[in-house]
Amino acid sequence: MLDNIFKSLDNHYTEMVEIRRYLHQHPELSFKEYKTAEYISLFYKKLGIPVRTGVGGNGVVATLTGKRPGPTVALRADFDALPIQDEKDVPYKSKVPGVMHACGHDGHTATLLILAKVLNHVKAEIEGSVVFIHQHAEEYAPGGAISMIEDGCLDGVDVIFGTHLWASEPVGTIQYRVGPMMAAADRFTITVQGAGGHGAQPHKTKDAIVTASQLVVNLQQIVSRQVDPVESAVVTVGSFVARNAFNVIADSAELIGTVRTFDESIRTKIENDIDRITKGTCLTSDCSYQYQYFRGYPAVVNHEKETEFLIKCTEAVPDVTNINETPLQMGGEDFAYYLQHVKGTFFFTGAKPANVDTPFPHHHPKFDIDEKAMLIAAKTLGSATIQYLLSENKNLQAN
Ligand code: MN
Repeated sequence: MLDNIFKSLDNHYTEMVEIRRYLHQHPELSFKEYKTAEYISLFYKKLGIPVRTGVGGNGVVATLTGKRPGPTVALRADFDALPIQDEKDVPYKSKVPGVMHACGHDGHTATLLILAKVLNHVKAEIEGSVVFIHQHAEEYAPGGAISMIEDGCLDGVDVIFGTHLWASEPVGTIQYRVGPMMAAADRFTITVQGAGGHGAQPHKTKDAIVTASQLVVNLQQIVSRQVDPVESAVVTVGSFVARNAFNVIADSAELIGTVRTFDESIRTKIENDIDRITKGTCLTSDCSYQYQYFRGYPAVVNHEKETEFLIKCTEAVPDVTNINETPLQMGGEDFAYYLQHVKGTFFFTGAKPANVDTPFPHHHPKFDIDEKAMLIAAKTLGSATIQYLLSENKNLQAN
């Protein structure tokens, strides 16, 4: 059956590219993907696959039910674009000023739609169900995943697989990782409140700039002195703003920064460490402060058994030439939430454009993918889906 699916995917490659290019020309921003959601649901309606729209927002969920009951596999593709002006010189360039598919989510969607179409052809041979989760708003916290889960997109799901087209790796590469893979991405704001005054009379003021400067330095001790050296974390102050003039001592200063972690306990520890260090630093100069910590997506943590399983299924895909472990990625992904609810794994599918030494990075105005990567993503997800249903059904029979 798998060979037939691979062949059928090959035969649908042109359509896959057409879908991707259509979406690429008609991108929509996170939480505003109305037409894209409509496009997706219409595709399923034409196939006769039951589809639910408005799932947790603009989410679309289609469920393919096989001939006989069995386990349920979920596959996820996101479909939002970014507030970036498309600067590529290609016929399929974005038609929407200032909005662009600069992360490959158009490709994720085309991949999943064509895989659904192909699996629909072999429906009679499938024992179990496949849930196609088309997720809105991946790029903008709080993201679409949480609300889609709350709206039941994972109900009855036994396992979930998802992939991201990855422009830094050549086509033919699949990258996996057991355990943490992508970081929790948080944001913090600290306002140091001093007492401004004349630049020539510092003794009558509480200098917010001096205090905030000490604070920036003191925060560097978190990663170097507070976090276990074999673990990974980042604390970055990316913005330091204090309004003043050459002869004025600043009344207040605002720091904004980001924290990246892979472990939930380290994440909480750093959130508390920042507060304690800020408190201590402000105490030394008699300043007060306000501190806010905003949690973004948690870390993507892949399940071990399901990741090993995916590696095995990837080996069955003829076009895959290289399977390797990805280094930890400090970027965030709200696929993390699905993995907190059900077993599964997220992986990267190499999508580096052909004849390019240094591809434009994700979120760049000239970002593009090699579309052949979509075919490999579809085959890998298809292989995982079919083999999971087969192996779980065998287990059920054995029991
Ligand atoms: Mn992305």
